[in-house]
Order: sequence, then structure tokens, then C-alpha cells
Amino acid sequence: MKRIAIDMDEVMADFTKKHLALFNADYNEAITLEDLQGKKLRDLRPHLVDEIREYLKDPTYFRDLDVMKDAQEVIKELSESFEIYIATAAMHFPSSFTAKYEWLQEHFPFLDDQHFVFCGDKSVIKADYLIDDNVYQLERFTGEGILFTAPHNIHEDRFIRVNSWANVRDYFLK
Ligand SMILES: [Mg+2]
Repeated sequence: MKRIAIDMDEVMADFTKKHLALFNADYNEAITLEDLQGKKLRDLRPHLVDEIREYLKDPTYFRDLDVMKDAQEVIKELSESFEIYIATAAMHFPSSFTAKYEWLQEHFPFLDDQHFVFCGDKSVIKADYLIDDNVYQLERFTGEGILFTAPHNIHEDRFIRVNSWANVRDYFLK
């Protein structure tokens, strides 16, 4: 079986929706996903870079993120023909480990927790494919990198791009 490694934030888990909602509420802002095209929140509000980061240090931040549309169904289908590994870069926020682990067990109970990899640089991941929204990780990955569309990466053109989990299904299963 070929092996697919999958990133969590902005691929399986809707990281940005919660981050934006908390930030908008606390700073009385109305920043939208459209404002984030080609950018990160910290690029829009550079004077608040520490505050923007602070949310993610909360050990529970990652516990109640929404699941991205169709991710459960498609990953379940993929798991019948591929070996699935979850590769999440957790070293910037080590306090997120428990929440991420519990989130995976709650929403993806069919995955083997021995295939969860909490890592830093993903170049160490030995898989045939990596689905990730982060260009930095795809640049280093030695297999085939697949870019999952997120507002910040829309101008990137060096990788195969998927816009949704329905796209991922078409790519691997058609
Ligand atoms: Mg990500």
C-alpha cells in the first residue's frame, strides 16, 4: 500500500475560522477570509503578532476545531486503499499535543493512533504523498507534495493543488 501523510490544521481541522472569530471578538475587528487571501493574520496586524500567537498557547485551543468539510468520509475511503499517517507540526505549540490527539480520536476513530506523528520539520516523514497547506513543509518533503488550498497559499503554483476533500477523493480514487 502507498502511504499518504496528512497535515491537521487547515487541512483536516478548521483552524482559521476559530482563530479569526476569537481575534475579531477581542479586538473589535471584522477581518474575513477574503482579507486573508495570500496573507496570514499576522501580516495584516503585525503590531499584534504576539497576541495573535497567544491564542494557540491555550492547551484547549485545538480541541474543538470544526472538521473540514468531507474530511472524515474521504479519509475513511482513502484508508481502504492507502496507509494513512497524520503528520502535524506541533513543536511551535507543544501544549497542543493532548488536544490534537483527543480531537483525532473523537473525529477519526478509524485511524490507528500509532500512525499519528507529532513532528517539527516534515522532511523526516517517509510517505509517498503529503497533503499540507504549508508550502514550507512541502518544499522539504521528499515524496509528492499536494497543496491543500488555504487563504494564505492561493498564489502558490509549484505544487499539485486540491481545493477540497472532494478534490482529494478525485485525485486519489478516480
Ligand atoms: Mg496546516
